[in-house]
Amino acid sequence: MSEETKIPYKIYLDESEIPDSWYNVRADMPVKPAPLLNPATGAPLTAEEMSGIFCEELVAQELDNDTAYIPIPQEIRDFYKMYRPAPLVRAYCLEKALGTPAKIYYKFEGNNTSGSHKLNSAIAQAYYAKKQGLKGVTTETGAGQWGTALSMACAYLGLECKVFMVKVSYEQKPFRREVMRTYGADVTPSPSTTTAVGRKILEEHPGTTGSLGCAISEAVEVATSTPGYRYVLGSVLNQVLLHQSIIGLEAKAALDKYGVKPDIIIGCAGGGSNLGGLISPFMGEKLRGEKDYRFIAVEPASCPSFTRGKFAYDFCDTGKICPLAKMYTLGSGFIPSPNHAGGLRFHGMSSTLSQLYHDGYMEAKAVEQTAVFEAAEQFARIEGILPAPESSHAIRVAIDEALKCKETGEEKTILFGLTGTGYFDMVAYQKFNDGEMSDYIPTDEDLAAGFKGLPVVPGQE
Ligand SMILES: *Cc1c(COP(=O)(O)O)cnc(C)c1O
Repeated sequence: MSEETKIPYKIYLDESEIPDSWYNVRADMPVKPAPLLNPATGAPLTAEEMSGIFCEELVAQELDNDTAYIPIPQEIRDFYKMYRPAPLVRAYCLEKALGTPAKIYYKFEGNNTSGSHKLNSAIAQAYYAKKQGLKGVTTETGAGQWGTALSMACAYLGLECKVFMVKVSYEQKPFRREVMRTYGADVTPSPSTTTAVGRKILEEHPGTTGSLGCAISEAVEVATSTPGYRYVLGSVLNQVLLHQSIIGLEAKAALDKYGVKPDIIIGCAGGGSNLGGLISPFMGEKLRGEKDYRFIAVEPASCPSFTRGKFAYDFCDTGKICPLAKMYTLGSGFIPSPNHAGGLRFHGMSSTLSQLYHDGYMEAKAVEQTAVFEAAEQFARIEGILPAPESSHAIRVAIDEALKCKETGEEKTILFGLTGTGYFDMVAYQKFNDGEMSDYIPTDEDLAAGFKGLPVVPGQE
């Protein structure tokens, strides 16, 4: 039997093979990600300080740089069983269409109503909030996937959910908003006049269409000023990468079944949660010196945190009320050009991934959105799935790497994360189909303006 017939199009794991622990890549990192700092004192944030914003158990996960495996509570595993294990797909059809000797696999996380991987962390965060006896949670959402995922998790557990949605998305994606409301969430366009920080941002930037950074500021303000509430975040934080490790653990278990070892692992990077989750167990092997892999983070050229950002302490939010994180950042005041339709618009990046990138364990590529939508269209027509614009960044680079193999004749194995579906992104697809999509790459001057707002932190250059 040839290898081609041995490996099925879809490798499903059995329900019992859903991992029973998350994997914490920080445990194997020689240099740990820098701690979050209190912006007022410049000192590392203590668990006590954090617990005013986040749930206690999540604070413990955030600060734990040493425990490699953290058990997944049974209630969360039960919820996971409704939509996991997620399939690992061998993209035979795409390989054939490209005429490449490369072997392409993708881990598909779009098989749930929220349409993305975000549900993996939403259910975990909602579970710990419920366990703590809280009344509700607040959050921000950009494109809407995180808000939808959190609404679903809160509805399931009977928690209240207040979502600040970036205004441009709120207007462009009314159906997203209605999905959230159907799951019981309260959705406010951000910046809004319902918070002090929102009013301040509106005063300084009248007519702004918002950004994730603004929405975070508003959500944090409401969480810290409403009794029984905490704030939850869908990406960037260590705890979110931890929950998302389920993606990589399942992918690895599926590949191991067939003795397949990827050479290149590719994921799109917004705040870094899906990429961090996908690569974690493989990165662990690399960090422990057991195996080698190439890891590629793919980001939009219009919001190039890794490839053109600075590795520095910065605010996670525009209103500068959140703790400081050391990360690759474009500055918390950076707002991507309004023509940017492709998601992944956060100015910063996960501290864990930033440290790994800084230490040379990972590469990064920036791609332009028209090239991303070309890849999305090609993928949709060949593999059938309508990909989210965010996911399509990874598709772009996976196709590019496969085409390189075609030139060199190398039979590399490529694994990429297909984080979600694009049904709610049809305004962006419409622009592309009408030939009205353009690329905008910020100039050095544009970026310099964002860097000027970086906070001065003692001991930082
Ligand atoms: C949110 C999202 C992303 C980007 O977020 P990360 O935290 O970087 O993973 C990518 N793809 C989809 C479908 C998303 O919803």
